[in-house]
Amino acid sequence: MYLRTFVASVVLAAASAGVFAQDKVINLYSARHYQADEALYNNFTKATGIRINRVDADDAGILARLKSEGAASPADVILLVDAARLWRAENDGLFQPVKSGVLESRIPVKLRGKDDGHGSQWFGFSMRARTIVYNKQTVKPEDVDSYEALADPKNKGKLCTRSGSHPYNVSLFGALYEHVGEARTEAILKGMVANMARLPVGSDTDQIKAVASGECGVAVSNSYYVARLMKSTKPEDIAVVSRIGVVWPNQKTYGVHVNIAGAGVAKYAPHKADAVQFLEYLSSDEAQRYFAEGNNEWPVVKSLKTSNAALDKLGPFKAEVINVATIGRNQQKVLQILDRVGYR
Ligand code: FE
Repeated sequence: MYLRTFVASVVLAAASAGVFAQDKVINLYSARHYQADEALYNNFTKATGIRINRVDADDAGILARLKSEGAASPADVILLVDAARLWRAENDGLFQPVKSGVLESRIPVKLRGKDDGHGSQWFGFSMRARTIVYNKQTVKPEDVDSYEALADPKNKGKLCTRSGSHPYNVSLFGALYEHVGEARTEAILKGMVANMARLPVGSDTDQIKAVASGECGVAVSNSYYVARLMKSTKPEDIAVVSRIGVVWPNQKTYGVHVNIAGAGVAKYAPHKADAVQFLEYLSSDEAQRYFAEGNNEWPVVKSLKTSNAALDKLGPFKAEVINVATIGRNQQKVLQILDRVGYR
């Protein structure tokens, strides 16, 4: 129903804006670089006449750039791919609050930034889970069915992960901190370091490939990297997928860790109204489908059912129940623990 309202208002806006439509532009600082997102942005421009000028960098690069630009920043929308980074941007005062009935009705409270009464600082637009991937020949799924199990001595010499201080892992450990407390988190991370098959190196996809090759027995990876390999038609990827198993960790306890990609309006946005319109568009059924599906993620809008062959094959799962902002709040403590246990 929202979508119909949106399209109707867009047609009106386009008709009345006339020649001025071509001047409309928002500057999007984006840490997402997916083909499907590109198509989505084109649809937004077609529908609204608002062009999207994209500035691409990773999360850290975007935050650094915003800080150095200060009040002169042309950024309208800031799009990041990790809850802890969104929290960091919020705490560095890089967003401005957005009050929108559309966004409030579409995006669950636990997937939004701080709201001090003037609106939320940011909104989550897609979800990804941090799964456990194992080698089917050398590891039994029941031996790696929780994040805690990765620290168990029975998995000595088998674990591979990307850097401990990568945002995806800092957020995972920040969630763990919330679920089991500081002492237990430190013990788990210490055990993980002791179980490493090799020093942390490479991306999540590199870990999956190392699991398939047998160099590692078990690894952690975001769900969409697994799904991407499952959908690949390259013989080498098909071979990788045939050798790995995937478990949803902690199904008997607090559930698999879920992270988000999300966005907010920049503090000094020169085009605030258009920026808000873009965020509202990202919450529409059509955009949610593109935004999540294009990268094999899940939409945040509850009522929306999507079907993705690879994700469906991984089966249903229990996700952790946690306000994603708490993950950000824990990140400093996590970094200190990583330092103490030597998890690089
Ligand atoms: Fe990623």
